[in-house]
Amino acid sequence: MQVTGKELVTPKITECYPENRDTLQISDRFRAELTLKYDEEGRHKCIGCGICQMNCPNGTIKLTTKMVELPDGKKKRKLDKYLYDLGSCTFCMLCVTTCPQNALEFSNDFEQAVFTRDSLVKQLNYKPEVPDAPAPAKAAPAAKPAAPAAKPADAAAAKSDAATSTPTDK
Ligand code: SF4
Ligand code: SF4
Repeated sequence: MQVTGKELVTPKITECYPENRDTLQISDRFRAELTLKYDEEGRHKCIGCGICQMNCPNGTIKLTTKMVELPDGKKKRKLDKYLYDLGSCTFCMLCVTTCPQNALEFSNDFEQAVFTRDSLVKQLNYKPEVPDAPAPAKAAPAAKPAAPAAKPADAAAAKSDAATSTPTDK
């Protein structure tokens, strides 16, 4: 009875989920779902090199690429579709640690329950593609330097010449 009485007054440490959903604290390091990092302008850093796909031990990542023409006329390979199957991911993080672009991270959004396995396959480059920035314009030719201002002595001499000259001099 002594133990029971003590436990009755001890604060509860169990999580009352989902009642506490608004105040629930999930560790930032919790690995819930692979995501592509996006910057403020909606661009991700993935270059479609396929290293994450090759390093994934479960075949969880499947990506396709396409060739696009840049504003300067050059061709470049870009990511077309990045598919991630959450249902087969073991959260080993090999994809994140081997990405040369540091383009991947894990979110801690743990609410991933769905009704079908197909729903666990997610396209990570879901945001509308933002076109590449236009090539920087060529620098305009430098303007000619302005003629140096007349020195005070030269200006005084010119003034004196003007004063001593007669109308016939002109
Ligand atoms: S996420 Fe990283 S490793 Fe994977 S294809 Fe993109 S740049 Fe390459
Ligand atoms: S965390 Fe591991 S299993 Fe999951 S996608 Fe990345 S490499 Fe594959």
